[in-house]
Order: sequence, then C-alpha cells, then structure tokens
Amino acid sequence: MLLPHPLTGELFESPVPPGSGWPEDPAARSTEVARTAAEVVELAQTPELAELDARVSVCRACERLVEWREEVAVSKRKSFADQPYWGRPIAGWGSPEPRVLIAGLAPAAQGGNRTGRVFTGDRSGDWLFASLYRVGLASQPTSEHAGDGLRLLGARMMAAVRCAPPANKPTPEERDNCSPWFRRELELVLPSTRAIVCLGKFGFDVLLNALQSVGGAVPKPRPRFGHAVEYVVPGPYGEVVVLGCFHPSQQNTFTGKLTEPMLDAVMSRAKSIAESLPGGIPGG
Ligand code: SF4
Repeated sequence: MLLPHPLTGELFESPVPPGSGWPEDPAARSTEVARTAAEVVELAQTPELAELDARVSVCRACERLVEWREEVAVSKRKSFADQPYWGRPIAGWGSPEPRVLIAGLAPAAQGGNRTGRVFTGDRSGDWLFASLYRVGLASQPTSEHAGDGLRLLGARMMAAVRCAPPANKPTPEERDNCSPWFRRELELVLPSTRAIVCLGKFGFDVLLNALQSVGGAVPKPRPRFGHAVEYVVPGPYGEVVVLGCFHPSQQNTFTGKLTEPMLDAVMSRAKSIAESLPGGIPGG
C-alpha cells in the first residue's frame, strides 16, 4: 500500500525502495546489496563515505533482522498506521567530517526504522537532539522526520548495529556481521574526529574494538564504561577522547538514572574537547 511521507506528501511503499525519492535516502536503485556477512566485508571497502552510507542502507546480510524490520514496516504501530515505514538499515548521519562522533546501539523499530534517520522519531532521539541543540551541536531541538532541515554541527551519529533488532537486542552474530560497516565508517571519519560519545555500554564496547582495529592504541587495562568517563586514545591521526554516556532510553530517563543536565554535561564536554584541539567545530 502506498502512503504519503509525513513531510513531503510523496507516496511510498513500506519498506521504502532504494532511490525512490525518500528524503535523505543515501542509496540509488543501482546500489550494491550485501546479502551475506562476507559481502558486508567486501562492500564496506569503498573509499567513499557517501557510497558506504548507500550500501549500508540496502544491506540484507542478517536474515532475522531483515525479516523483523520489514515485518514492523508493514504491521506498523497503530499511531503511525497512516505513515510509510523506511524498513531498511539506518546509515550514519551528520557531518562527513565530524569533530564529535556519537555512537549508539541500534535504531528503534518505530523510530529510525520508520523515519530512515538515526534516533529520529522516538523518545530517546527527542532527548538526544534536544541536548545537542542546547549545547550547540544541532541546528534544531527536534528530529521528527528525514527532510526536516535539521543539521548536526560538526557532529555525526552512527549505530553499532544498523537494523532495528527485536527487543533492542541484536545477537552477537548480528553485531559481528554489522561491524565492518561501523569500522569502515569510523576509519573514514577518524581524520577529523576528536571526541567520541558512546551511548551505553554496547556502543562503548563496539567503538573500542573498532577503534583498535583502525589503529587506535586503546589503553590497558581496557577502559570500563560509565557515565561521564573519559579515555584518551592515541590514534593514527592524533588523540581522540572517548566519553561514556548513559543511553537516553526511557528506561534511564524515566527512572532518573540519566537527567538532562547529565546528558548536556557529556555533550558539552565533547564539544569543548573538539574545540580545544586543532580545527575547532565547523558550521556543520
Ligand atoms: Fe546488514 Fe547490519 Fe542490518 Fe545485519 S544489522 S542486515 S549487517 S545493516
């Protein structure tokens, strides 16, 4: 069934076919599709970030996750029944030359999996973008739909696993299948990156593994996750500072484990680290 995009009114199938006009769709109809873990490894080798984003967004390497994301895209939550669902993997999003990188776990079934943009259209994203706006890393306080004009300012977001997993829990095999996309994206943006905020332990662990595999000297003993922890990691392009931050999930924000001032403090710290090192925060 074709339904109108909430902003543009253009009609789309769910899941959205690549290159069919969805706002911010990085893929074209001709983008190569990875159907196995080995093909992820092969296709992640592109030297172009834009091509990497495109390839991520059409990946079909994890059978369980492809089935789940497409099933959710068709069954839909009742409150979004009048909307088309993206139903594809979520590529990294933001500046192609970020100073601040934000690493999360995976997109939400009714959030990124619906809107096609990471952290967009769910409560975690509401918290996160409001904070990024308050500290000067986003041009708007809200992120509801791809194509809404929002820009990250000198920042980029990426998830450890690019498809929405059932119960927010990817299997170790799915995490490993997706890691070449994450590692390659990190490698391509690392020359400009000075601070990396990891939202939750899962993203923190995946980030440290990826950082090590692209030449970062991860300290020993291995850094432990915690809110507002900071570790300096010498890398091939200079030092990066890795910061831990509790994930802005409802489980954490409803219980008060993570408050707005706590989230703002970490984001603000990441921004000031990036500003204090050569290059500063560019305009977006
Ligand atoms: Fe591909 Fe990653 Fe999605 Fe698996 S989780 S299908 S590797 S994009």
